[in-house]
Amino acid sequence: MIQTSPQILNTPTMKKINKIAIIGAGTAGLATAILFARQEIQVTLFEKAEQLQPVGAGLLLQPAGLAVFEHLGILENTLILGAMVTGLEGRLANQRLLVNSHYREVHDKYYGIGIHRATLCHVLKSKLEAYDAYVSWKMGHEVNRLSEHNHGITVYGQYQMQDFEENFDAVIIANGARSHLRPQAWVKVDRPYPWGAVWNIVPECQILDTQILHQFYDRSQIMMGILPTGAIPEKPHQRLSSIFWSLPTRQLDQFLNHPNKLNDLIHQISSRWTPVSHWLEQITQNQSSSSWLSAQYRDVVMSKFGQGRLGVIGDAAHAMSPQLGQGANMALLDAWALGQALQQFPDHRIEWNKFWQHYHQLRYSSTQFYQSLSRLLTPLYQSDSAWTGPFRDFSFYWMYQIPYLRKQMAITISGLKTNPLHHLDYSDVAQYKSKI
Ligand SMILES: Cc1cc2nc3c(=O)[nH]c(=O)nc-3n(C[C@H](O)[C@H](O)[C@H](O)COP(=O)(O)OP(=O)(O)OC[C@H]3O[C@@H](n4cnc5c(N)ncnc54)[C@H](O)[C@@H]3O)c2cc1C
Repeated sequence: MIQTSPQILNTPTMKKINKIAIIGAGTAGLATAILFARQEIQVTLFEKAEQLQPVGAGLLLQPAGLAVFEHLGILENTLILGAMVTGLEGRLANQRLLVNSHYREVHDKYYGIGIHRATLCHVLKSKLEAYDAYVSWKMGHEVNRLSEHNHGITVYGQYQMQDFEENFDAVIIANGARSHLRPQAWVKVDRPYPWGAVWNIVPECQILDTQILHQFYDRSQIMMGILPTGAIPEKPHQRLSSIFWSLPTRQLDQFLNHPNKLNDLIHQISSRWTPVSHWLEQITQNQSSSSWLSAQYRDVVMSKFGQGRLGVIGDAAHAMSPQLGQGANMALLDAWALGQALQQFPDHRIEWNKFWQHYHQLRYSSTQFYQSLSRLLTPLYQSDSAWTGPFRDFSFYWMYQIPYLRKQMAITISGLKTNPLHHLDYSDVAQYKSKI
């Protein structure tokens, strides 16, 4: 929760800023820390976890996210551990290819990278080490409250059961979908999704093309994804895949606690996609059943992302279902946009109104576009309704027959759309002009 006074929020200040707090060391927080530290701003990263050990399924970095990686100077390293992905193929139970979207339809040099959260965190953290002089780590620090006043924002929280407080010139909230720090007055929607997924990390699926994100659908009640995700830093030679199995949230615990969960799952798949069920049976026979975990999603919509000395980015600002595979990419684009806004003030005398105006120009309509589309498309894949699946199968078939729409779909998945008609250029994001 944040205490603010409207007069303070609207007062532009020309005082030189010295230090900024970032709350949350996830994708959004780490990338922002690099971009601020690179511009010689003192950054303090508050993270409630004692150590950076991100758990979670692998995810797909789209070309937009990779453009930010190029901007950060970490793309080459990421390619060593991550898995290059050239497109997405979604198959129905009757074996018809419903979704057949490839990045080359936008540009022959575009690709995505399937990556583990641990690897993503490792590459961002390694880069941040290059700016050690500008970064203070506050691990194990849980921030509970922010208070804005004439001299800045005070951060209050707990560290090892003790209260702490510290004053900053500005604060960026990047503490994920369940953030309780984002200003409530800016929140338009904040609710859980009725569907989630269980997931598992397994050896790379070699019976399918290892450069494709494979999805399997039957109506809108059954959906499975197999994403190549490369290796983790500790075991660089063991290539892995992540499996996702979609379920209503009320069934997630039931699945995880079910002693025969795998048999049930394999049974559902074998009648539809037999070779995949054989592979799954083989690779999971020696696995502990606790290797399956669950993920739930939230829908968070905000009227603005920043004002005065305070900003909200990443899932804290715009959590959504991962159906379009954009969450981490959007978090990276947020960080890039903050970096661009900061560059407008090379002497660090920030006029906050101008700063947020620039940021919103870069991020607001794009975020709105992806959130609206995600809300429209997710029920076509995850819903109890009888008509959404057949509607999807019919409309997607026709959409993929029209070259213009195929290309628009590929641009959308690339994460570069700024609104229904326009998109960002990869090179505009990727370029970085060093001061030296
Ligand atoms: C199953 C699943 C699949 C997904 N697949 C994709 C995909 O293919 N592509 C894609 O782009 N995205 C995907 N996403 C979404 C993506 O994972 C998120 O959008 C992204 O990780 C958001 O990053 P973030 O930094 O905003 O938040 P987070 O990664 O959640 O980081 C928030 C950090 O803040 C810390 N924190 C929380 N509260 C506090 C506090 N009070 N004080 C201090 N620290 C705090 C947390 O410990 C955490 O480290 C997927 C998500 C799920 C669940």
